[in-house]
Amino acid sequence: MSVVNFEFRNEVLKHNASLSYCYQCSTCSGGCPVALLTDGKYNPRKIIEEAILGFQEKLVDEQDPNVWLCSTCQTCVELCPQNVELTEIFSLIKNRCFENGNYPEGFFSQGQAIIENGVAIPYSNAILNRRKKLGLPDVKTASVDEIRKLLKLTQFENNIKKRGG
Ligand code: SF4
Ligand code: SF4
Repeated sequence: MSVVNFEFRNEVLKHNASLSYCYQCSTCSGGCPVALLTDGKYNPRKIIEEAILGFQEKLVDEQDPNVWLCSTCQTCVELCPQNVELTEIFSLIKNRCFENGNYPEGFFSQGQAIIENGVAIPYSNAILNRRKKLGLPDVKTASVDEIRKLLKLTQFENNIKKRGG
């Protein structure tokens, strides 16, 4: 049985008050490409409903529905008649999942790549050579040290390590 967690509910509301305007019309789910591809197993309306009800366990521990499936295409945000900022709300839920080490494998490797190289998908020599052949400008690189400092401040690195063991 799902347990109402008022603290979690208030945290989501504080993060984005538009949550309280949802009247569960399902327009978001009707327009969501991921809902279409998963035959409705992924359902943004349900995520919002569970957030309104404060079902932290469902959203963060069980990931039912799995918020990580959202591609952040913003279609639901554009369609919502109540201007609910769904993807902003999903960001908070994703952050809580991340803090629990509960996130997809692909994000783990991308997180590690950011810590090591300052970018999620490092450029290979093949890509750089192809860019040269196409006459594209050199890729500007960011300071990895500065990026690491920022990641330390946000606890990003610790959370990635927690998952990595
Ligand atoms: S479209 Fe907006 S109001 Fe309708 S269910 Fe989705 S979030 Fe709620
Ligand atoms: S932003 Fe996410 S939930 Fe909204 S329509 Fe796109 S994939 Fe679906």
